Order: sequence, then structure tokens, then C-alpha cells
Amino acid sequence: MNQDPLIQTFSAGRWLFEAGDPGDVAYLVEEGEVVIALKTGEGMTPLAVYGPGSLFGEMALIDQNPRSASALALTDCRLRVISREQILHRTEQADPLLRLFLSVLMGNLRKTLRQLEGTQGGAAQGARAPLRELLQEAADAAVRASAVGTHAVAPERRGQAPALTALDLAAVPRVQAVEAGAFKGALRALNLEQELGVAIRAGQLRLFYQPIMEISTERLAGFEALVRWVHPERGFISPGEFVPVAERSGLIVEMTRWIIGVACTELVSMRRDLLGHPSLGAHVLENLFVSVNFSSRDFLDHHLMGYVHEVLASSGLPPYSLKIEITESVLMSSPNEVREALNACRARGASVAIDDFGTGYSSLSYLQSMPADTLKIDQGFIRPMHTDERHMALVESIIHLARRLHMKTVAEGVETQEDVDSLTGLRCDYLQGYHFARPMPPSDVLAWAERRWAPPPAPQDEFLG
Ligand code: C2E
Ligand code: MG
Ligand code: MG
Repeated sequence: MNQDPLIQTFSAGRWLFEAGDPGDVAYLVEEGEVVIALKTGEGMTPLAVYGPGSLFGEMALIDQNPRSASALALTDCRLRVISREQILHRTEQADPLLRLFLSVLMGNLRKTLRQLEGTQGGAAQGARAPLRELLQEAADAAVRASAVGTHAVAPERRGQAPALTALDLAAVPRVQAVEAGAFKGALRALNLEQELGVAIRAGQLRLFYQPIMEISTERLAGFEALVRWVHPERGFISPGEFVPVAERSGLIVEMTRWIIGVACTELVSMRRDLLGHPSLGAHVLENLFVSVNFSSRDFLDHHLMGYVHEVLASSGLPPYSLKIEITESVLMSSPNEVREALNACRARGASVAIDDFGTGYSSLSYLQSMPADTLKIDQGFIRPMHTDERHMALVESIIHLARRLHMKTVAEGVETQEDVDSLTGLRCDYLQGYHFARPMPPSDVLAWAERRWAPPPAPQDEFLG
């Protein structure tokens, strides 16, 4: 039996759906063939056959009308399910003009289908061909204009369908499969998206922590929390791969909530272990913080900031222990909403850092009114600092600018002692990079700090003394 709720299998002769049914999922055909047909009086007029690599059922998904035709499994088939929510997330974000075009296209397509239904009672086969072509064209355009996304629905269908003879199907066009690369890409994106939803709930995500050091005191100032996905079969998946998937699908909101909750809880215990340690306490700032990355989509969750404060209160962390990292592009995506949310956070004591500073498209004019207290200089400026003096000049200018605006600076991607020396000379405030530590699980943090500040005494040589 098939265990994956996102895959449905139908045996030959079963209805998938019938005209008038609510259309809450679309299907990508992985194996087998499906015929789309119109019921005409007592009979049925097949419109098109969908084989492996093709997509159908998307109309009702996009315009939220009932199914206008019926679908029947011609052979045993295996179908991948795409949910309405996945399409809606995307169409809601689409250009309003594109949305308008889609709705007009759908309206026209349905009107044509109704006309076709009215003329099918015994119309000549030849007369149907141009209409079919038109339908196919419109359906293809709708598929191209929409994006692919998923989710499951019980495959319960009514009994056996009337027999469709080989003769009935001889003149029916085979729908062209989606271009192989696009089909594979869509499947990969669908799989990743579905699995990520499961992963968040099944506890496959982990937070790793990368230390951020204060230059002036050489003490540990805080950590950046960086999400990791440990997939049960594929192993480690990089955030560069799945964070964009989470952003596109809207799962990011659930993920960020999870991250904030875990980061605050884990900071409480790391803080207790580090500050309470007899020889480490002096090397750790009392107001140790954790930085969490936010995406633009997070700011559409109007309850998120309220949730942040609930988490801070329930974990017992002072608000200054939380830093929110946003990139310039997040700030520019919807300046008012983002600004409002960040100001509310700062008013309650949390702080805000602009991540990857210098790489986004932002104007300097907004810097002075920016709701942030820290600039994180992108590693793309730090790494070539010693081989290209223009990068050194840029780093120096950013630090100078930040200081004049009463903002702190963090240099990202610090990999060498030479970097440390230069950034100390430039009076950067904080450093983060592989030179100090790679991101690590919270269980490794204490051992890392002990190796750095409290190495075990060297074993005594028994022949000495
Ligand atoms: P970011 O927020 O700028 O994070 C810094 C990235 O630089 C991390 O990559 C970190 O491992 C890497 N890095 C730190 N020091 C060095 C260094 O010295 N050299 C080099 N070469 N790299 C260094 P990571 O963890 O792969 O994360 C990549 C990006 O994915 C992050 O960039 C961030 O944009 C995103 N990301 C990671 N975790 C989260 C998260 O929890 N939420 C969200 N929304 N995005 C996240
Ligand atoms: Mg960051
Ligand atoms: Mg960064």
C-alpha cells in the first residue's frame, strides 16, 4: 500500500474526480494515463489523455470553481498531488496583472468548455478538433502562468466508470508532457517543500551556533543561530538550499517561530553553562545574545512579534539577549511593515542587525532612519581585504559610517589572524568567522569555550621532578 499521502494511486477504470466536484488538488502524472472527459447525456466525450510528465486538474485549483470535466484512470496510475494552498501562496504574491490574466483565461476556458458540452450530443468528430486545440492551448498557457506546488486528499471515488472503447480514444489528443527539465525541477521543488513541512514538525531541523566575539575585550559576546536540516535519508541539507524553499512556500513563518523558540531556550542553557563555569565566566559577556535571521515573509505574520515577546518572557531571557538579523532587501521589501515591527521589538529591548551589509540594493539615505543598531559587514568585503585595497577602503568606510550613526559593526567571515589585526586596527566592534569557530551544535559550545579559555593542564611527565 502507498504510504506517502502526497502520492495517490488509482487502478484503471476509477474516477479521480467528476464534473461539479470541488477542485482542491491538481495532479502531476508520474506513471500511467488519465483521460479527461465531458459527460454528455448518457455518454462521455473524451477530451484529452494525460500521460507521464503531464499536469492536470489545475483549473479548479487556480480559480476555485468546481471541476468542469471528469477525470478517469485509463490505466493504473501514480499521481503526485498538488494542493490549493501551494498554488494560492504563489498566485497571491504574483503581479496583479498576471492574476487578472489568469482569471480571464480561466473564465474563457470554462465558457469554451460549456459550449463544447452543449455541442457534443452527436456533433461531427471533425468539428471538435479546433475546439480541442483551443482548449489545449489555453490549458497549457494556464499551466505555464501558474507555478507548481502540494498536499493530499483522500482518493475515495465513486464506482466504475462507463467503458471507454479504443475507438472513443483514437481521436483524442495525448497531452504533451511538461518539458523534462521543468518536470524534474518541479518534482524536486515539490518534494523538498513537502519534506520540509514534515521536517519542521518531525524535529529534523537543528540550530547551530556560531560565536561572535567582542574585539575590545576578546570576550564571547553572542552567537548567530543558523538552521540546519538533517534529512533522514539525504543527510545534511544546506540552508542555502532549503531556506529559499521555505520562503517561497510560506513555510518560513512556521520555521522562524520554531527557530526563535529553540534559540531562546538553548541560549538559556548555554548562558548558564558558560557564565556559571569557574574559569569561563570571565571570558563571556553577561548580556550574551543570540542573533536570529528573519526573512521578509516573516513580517507578514502580524503575530510574530507578539510571539517573540511571549518566548522571551517564558524562557526568562532579558529582551537584550535577542538580536534580529534582516538583510537590506528584507527591509526594502515592505519598508513600512518591517520598520514598524522592528521598532516595536526595539522598544521592548531587543536589537536589530542589518545582515550582509553592502550587498543589497539600498540607498544611504535610509541608513540614518533605519530601525537597526548593528551593521554586519558582508564576508564578501572582508575576504579580499588584504589582496584588494579597495575592499579595505570599503570596510574602513562602513565602520566609520556606522560609528558616526551610533551603530555597532560585526565583521562576518573572519578567517585569519591578519583579518583580526586589521579589523582591530579599524575599530570594528565584533568579529564572526571560522578563525574563531564554525557554526556548531549547542552541545559542543562548552567544549569549544574550554579549549579556548580553559585548556586542561598539560599531563605531567612522570620522569620529571
Ligand atoms: P548569513 O545569515 O549571512 O550567515 C552567515 C553564513 O556565513 C553562514 O552560512 C555561516 O556558516 C557562514 N560563515 C560564517 N563564518 C564564515 C567564514 O569565516 N567563512 C565562510 N566562508 N563562511 C562563513 P550558512 O549557515 O550556510 O547560512 C547561509 C545563509 O542561510 C545565512 O547567511 C542566512 O542567509 C541563511 N540562513 C541560515 N540560517 C537561517 C535561519 O535560521 N533563518 C533564515 N531565515 N535564514 C537562515
Ligand atoms: Mg545572518
Ligand atoms: Mg550574513
